[in-house]
Amino acid sequence: MLPEIEKLLVLQDRDQRIRTLKTELKNAPLERKDLETRLAATAAGAESAKAKLRELEVEKKRLEVEAQGKRDQINRFKTQQMQTRKNEEFQALGNEIAHFEKEISKIEDRELEVMELMEAAKPALAEADRKAAESKSRVASQIADLEAKIATIGEALKTAEAERDALTVGIDEDLLDQYNRLFASKGGNAVVALEHEVCTGCHMKLTTQTLVRVRGAQEITHCEQCGRILYWTV
Ligand SMILES: [Zn+2]
Repeated sequence: MLPEIEKLLVLQDRDQRIRTLKTELKNAPLERKDLETRLAATAAGAESAKAKLRELEVEKKRLEVEAQGKRDQINRFKTQQMQTRKNEEFQALGNEIAHFEKEISKIEDRELEVMELMEAAKPALAEADRKAAESKSRVASQIADLEAKIATIGEALKTAEAERDALTVGIDEDLLDQYNRLFASKGGNAVVALEHEVCTGCHMKLTTQTLVRVRGAQEITHCEQCGRILYWTV
């Protein structure tokens, strides 16, 4: 194998590592956002369970006030009854009182229903709270792991980039330039093996002339289809 090819393969291996690390770094904020979204969803679940219970509490209070208003009214009617001497008026007040008592009874039925709904809502709220707390602590630890991972990747990237610079020393400038352009345009595979007369970069069959040149290992040879640099391993 040409010494330049050997150097380029080591360089390419490092460049592929750098590429992977950069992708991981780029994806880390997305992972974080995903975790935060899940956390927000469970918090919203607990919030909605709480809101439901609050609504019921408000309704219960409203019903209590409404019933009390009617009871007060009944008391006023009763006072009026005691004060009146007219039989008809006494009778009419009696009817009003009966009507209000019926309404109070309806309100009290609804109050009971609301109280039952409140009792039923409490376990759901407790469950939603439990889930939200669990999710919060789990996501917090996942985010901490992610931060640690980002720091580790950052360090590995720095090391790999420093190594990369050292690995380019001694490589012909034009060849390095060709390699860099191919690495960027060919999905991180600039130097590829020749296998069974086929370029492993583009999977096209190579001409006999190219095969001979690659096997001869006397000069840098490119795939005539994709332009990648070829090498041959026995
Ligand atoms: Zn090719």
